[in-house]
Amino acid sequence: MLFCIDEARRIMSRFYCHACSLPQSACLCAHVSPQPCPLPVLILQHPLEAKHAKSTVPLLRLALPDMQLAITEHLAPLPPPASGRWWLLYPSEQALDLDSAGVALPMADIGGLIVLDGTWRKTRRLLHLNPWLRQLPALSFSRAPAGAYAIRKGPGGQALSTLESLAHVLNRLDADFSPAPLHRLLRARVAQFQAHRVPEG
Ligand SMILES: [Zn+2]
Repeated sequence: MLFCIDEARRIMSRFYCHACSLPQSACLCAHVSPQPCPLPVLILQHPLEAKHAKSTVPLLRLALPDMQLAITEHLAPLPPPASGRWWLLYPSEQALDLDSAGVALPMADIGGLIVLDGTWRKTRRLLHLNPWLRQLPALSFSRAPAGAYAIRKGPGGQALSTLESLAHVLNRLDADFSPAPLHRLLRARVAQFQAHRVPEG
């Protein structure tokens, strides 16, 4: 049987939304309210996580279009941001807790945020393979709202999705940044999964 790639693409494009790249039955465009990142954000995603159907990173790309995404195990050190330094969002022992009372955030020094995306095991591996990340100052949080991403719980059921973590942290770094559009988009996605309308990968 002859198989033409262009024909296959034409057929597939009928079923996928061009704007959000999701199947048309799961199109989320009506729930997306894009907003700019208040500071440069790069998500370093473990390649195995990128294959996960329930990753929240595709939602973040819709909601924060100027966010950068690197899907790799090895990331070359980044050039410094326009001001300040890159900070890593990771709960290391030395991390500065954004939610801790009395902590004065060194806003001028926080020039950009690197977020690791993957299970704890995969993010530890990313840190191991990219030692320069461990040299960066780190941010963590302790008072984020309870996770709403009911379809995918981390160990102990406490883990927040990457979307919820970033929504909380960006709001703490810039009070003008509203986490609500991100939460609305996540709720729409959860509703789709709960209605079994989204094929699981
Ligand atoms: Zn769409």
